[in-house]
Amino acid sequence: MTTSPDRLRIAVQKSGRLSEASLGLLRRAGLAFRASRDHLFLYGENLPIDVLLVRDDDIPGLLVEGSCELGIVGRNVLVEQRLAGGGSAAPEELLPLGFGGCRLSIAIPQSGPVAQASDLDGLRIATSYPALLADWLAREGLAAEVVVLNGSVEIAPRLGKAEAICDLVSSGVTLAANQLRELVPVFHSEAVLALSPLEQTAAKAAQIERLRSRIAGALSGDGARLIMLQAPRTALSEIRRLLPSRDQPSVLSLDGRPDDIAVQALCSSALDWQHLEELKRLGAHGLMVLNVERMLA
Ligand code: ATP
Ligand code: ZN
Repeated sequence: MTTSPDRLRIAVQKSGRLSEASLGLLRRAGLAFRASRDHLFLYGENLPIDVLLVRDDDIPGLLVEGSCELGIVGRNVLVEQRLAGGGSAAPEELLPLGFGGCRLSIAIPQSGPVAQASDLDGLRIATSYPALLADWLAREGLAAEVVVLNGSVEIAPRLGKAEAICDLVSSGVTLAANQLRELVPVFHSEAVLALSPLEQTAAKAAQIERLRSRIAGALSGDGARLIMLQAPRTALSEIRRLLPSRDQPSVLSLDGRPDDIAVQALCSSALDWQHLEELKRLGAHGLMVLNVERMLA
């Protein structure tokens, strides 16, 4: 599969935990799509960017061979394949995306002899992530045997295949349902935007940077609020202290009112009523909290 010289291709999980959020993010970044008949492809209608719908495990390989320039995939899959690849060219993580959060953790039967990580020495650990697990074991100086299973890892202890497992956990419900308990996290993951290791033409590199920046903008707009108020100049330092802003607020002078200022601050969370009332007690008035729809850094 070769890519067109003037269209970007981004690989996204076809159906699974990351699919909806991945496509939702691309839409919020301003992309509109039309599905192909076979539902393997989404044609970008308003930008020269198409989406390839695939299994998540195929995404690093598609990036390495250059069938896609970009992909949205769990960091766990990306780093597992990078470690397993043993130093060959691997996709790079361009941007963490803030969804699909989970951890690769070692878990053990609730009623077993293992109490701490050092007890794993000499035991068997079943996992679908052998490279990440082996990497962690080496760093911890532990000599456990890695048993590779592709699926249903959580039943390995009951089948007598291993004494512990190393699997992805988010809520822990699946572990509990299998009478397992989490012992220690090995790797923290979330969905990331990944980039092909192949060299790109200048035109494509510019398109990639444009999409990256749009996605970053869509992400930073999530939950962002703009707070606007006016206040006496003397209250500025107290007001600054109360504002949960990401950056220094902008402070503007008001025409013909030398003792007053206008303040604008970008905050990552909403201010509750109590916060607003405290600001008002400091002399602030004309308070407004606005949702931020888009930001471009
Ligand atoms: P595919 O059919 O595409 O191969 P899959 O079964 O391998 O799908 P999913 O279960 O959909 O994959 O998980 C995709 C990604 O979602 C994982 O690689 C991981 O990054 C993330 N994820 C978040 N929470 C969890 C969780 N509790 N269990 C498994 N994966 C999780
Ligand atoms: Zn998969």
